[in-house]
Amino acid sequence: MRQNIVAGNWKMNNTLEEGIKLAKEVSALLEANKPNCKVVLGTPFIHLAEAVKAVNTDLVGISAQDCADKESGAYTGETSAAMIKSTGAEYVILGHSERRTYYGETNAILKDKTDLALANGLTPIFCIGEVLEEREANKQNEVCKTQIEEALFHLSADEFSKIVIAYEPVWAIGTGKVATPEQAQEIHAYIRSVIADKYGAEVADNTSILYGGSCKPSNAKELFANPDVDGGLIGGASLNAEDFNGIISAF
Ligand code: PEP
Repeated sequence: MRQNIVAGNWKMNNTLEEGIKLAKEVSALLEANKPNCKVVLGTPFIHLAEAVKAVNTDLVGISAQDCADKESGAYTGETSAAMIKSTGAEYVILGHSERRTYYGETNAILKDKTDLALANGLTPIFCIGEVLEEREANKQNEVCKTQIEEALFHLSADEFSKIVIAYEPVWAIGTGKVATPEQAQEIHAYIRSVIADKYGAEVADNTSILYGGSCKPSNAKELFANPDVDGGLIGGASLNAEDFNGIISAF
């Protein structure tokens, strides 16, 4: 059966000292009260190796927020999937809307990043989602389908079964606007049907599909109660250990 997952995305927040303090706080809260789901912390690159040492890795997995689309070499400023893996991190967030919007990441680039993440034994948390105009034009399904098809559907069923999908409506990220539980369930079920059409019902049933976008302790329970919502990718609320733990406790 698929795993329930709550993953934090710290984005470009926290100095090394602040980040390790937060990672330790999250880990301690989970040791005191064991989670009923997999918990992941998506930290900036510079925190990864220290964060792996700071947490109880039986309870918390560490994730990068991006990786290079090249294996290695003269790509100043980039961080490869192999480098991320070497820190002890297990996950990498790919295709976040901020990467797509501010850094021009296309589905073709994300296809290469996904291949490198998988080749290096990282689990991609692959983000998809529509912008507000697309939602208003009722195009959310086709947008998500295209993002998955173009970046992921070259994978074999075996490879695809290692992917975690995060549905993040861009209009809900960092805005305080959250998708209703009905909107989340509807599109998560649709995304699962797209996966089933390509890879069959078993792979689709085993794929974790997370919701992201202004998820908080106050709304997590009703979002996660939906049969096709297998947890969340959490931005703002993951920067506070109590709030993040409040979301984890929704399971
Ligand atoms: C995100 O950036 O992945 C996200 C879901 O952010 P927030 O929770 O702050 O909306």
